Formats: sequence, C-alpha cells, structure tokens
Amino acid sequence: MTAGRMIRAWVLLLAGLCLPGGVEAQKHKDVENIGRRDINKGSWNLYSLEKEIEIGRQLAAQVEASSHLLRDSRVDGYVNDLVQNLVRHSDARVPFTVKVIDSDDFNAFALPGGFLYVHTGLILEAQTEAELAGVLAHEIAHVTARHATKQASKATLFQWLSLPLIFVGGPVGYGIQQAVGLAVPLSFLKFQRGAEREADFLGLQYAYHAGYDPVALVDFLERLKDKDKEGRLAKLFSTHPMTKDRIRRAQKGIAEALPSREEYVVSTSQFERVRGYLLRLQQASQIYEPQAVPGPQLRRRTQELDE
Ligand SMILES: [Zn+2]
Repeated sequence: MTAGRMIRAWVLLLAGLCLPGGVEAQKHKDVENIGRRDINKGSWNLYSLEKEIEIGRQLAAQVEASSHLLRDSRVDGYVNDLVQNLVRHSDARVPFTVKVIDSDDFNAFALPGGFLYVHTGLILEAQTEAELAGVLAHEIAHVTARHATKQASKATLFQWLSLPLIFVGGPVGYGIQQAVGLAVPLSFLKFQRGAEREADFLGLQYAYHAGYDPVALVDFLERLKDKDKEGRLAKLFSTHPMTKDRIRRAQKGIAEALPSREEYVVSTSQFERVRGYLLRLQQASQIYEPQAVPGPQLRRRTQELDE
C-alpha cells in the first residue's frame, strides 16, 4: 500500500467511527418495551458494566470532594424518589445513587454507572415537576445508553490506531493525535452530538413512561434558550448550545414515538413544597449568612461537569 492510500484508509476508518449518532436516535422507538429491551445490543464497548460502576464510583468520590453537598433529608428524599421512579420506567441495568449539590448552577449530571447529581439551582429554575423530570430523565438516558464508556472505548481505539500514524506522520497523523489528547479526559463528561440526541430521545420516553408530560422538557429548553439570549449562561447546556434543531428534534420525537395520552403529570404538591423550602433556605442564607455561599474555587470544578 502506498503512503497516500494508507493515510486514506486510516482517515476513512476513523471517520466511520466518528459518524454522528443521529441514526442511533431512530432506534429504540418501541416505548412499550422499555425495561425489557436491550438498547445497547450490538454496540461496541470495551468496559464491562461492573468496570463502568467502578469508574463511576471513583469519579463520584472526586466530585464529592470538590462540591458542596446540600445534605438535607427533605430535599434529598424528594429528589431520590423522583429519580428512582424515572429509573423504574427506564432501560437502566444499574442501581442509581442520587445526591443534591448546593449550587446556583442550572445543572444536573450523571456519571457512568448511575451516580447522578442535581444542583439546587436547577430545582429552583424548573417551574413544574415534569420539567425537572425531563432533565433528570435525559441524564438517566446517558447512563442507560452507556455513552461515557462507549465514548471512552472509541477514545482508546483512537489511541491504538494512532500508533501506526507515527510512521505516516505529517499533518493528518498530528491532527488525529491532538484530537485523541483532547478526547480522553473529556470522554466521561462531554458527549458527542449523536449521544445528546439519543439522550433527548430516550429521556423523553422515560419521562413519558413514568407518566409525565414529555412536552415539559421542550418548554424548559425553550425557556433556558431565551435566557441564553439575555446573556445568562445556562450551564446545563453550555457544552452543546440549545439550537432550534435540538428542540425541533425533541418535538418530532414526541410526535412520532409517543402515543398521546388523556392525562399527564405536570406538577405535584411535593415538588411545590420542596421548591418553596429551597427558596426559603436560599433567602435565609442570603440574609443571614452572605459568606456561606460556596467559594468560586469549588464552583469552578463543578462547572466542568456540564452533562
Ligand atoms: Zn446530555
């Protein structure tokens, strides 16, 4: 094989591995089989589920060492019940651990293996339980679809494949090696566009299956998008801007895959109570303890965990 042909072969192979997963989102339309279907069937993953949980546990320890957990039984209990109910209506194969982080960020993120974190700012920003459930279901979907370890598997493969490129050299080899250097540390937290679409699609199904109005997530996305226009950064989506395309796709997903129902849960009295309680906590801390707000150093670490 000539050097030129060899480069082309590698580039084609790598390009194939990078294909956006828009196609994936078209799979798993069988909402009625949620929980019984294997959404990861046939997909390539170097990590066993046990290894994935172990990685998640290690990352969770890092997160908790650098975050301020709320540790309030009323809020923790409510959020845990909400998440576990969504998990029961999902394709989850791992148990979920849920913790609330005391922070103004509009954020929630899930680590591989089922370690889910919700920021108080997100609970306060949601106007209904269905909106909050929509975001949490999206995070649960990242875990059920094993996006972190699938992406890490690809990154590892890139490393293996990039070895022969040392002999090819030139700008192609260098460019790919640069990309690998970036992909590895981010692979557990930032997802490719295809993975985001799949998490939107599956998350909408889980929220719907648990009885929530799936349109609520779309409403929430649109509202946050308007806030972005006003210059307020919605951290939840800072890694992937809320484009019209994403909202349109979510709407299409609902229309195509989810048969309409007579009634949906929009909000609950528990949500209203917990949100009101958090609001009072926040106001009290602003009045009496202005210094109690977590320092910028702690926040900077959590801001990286945008998914
Ligand atoms: Zn996501």
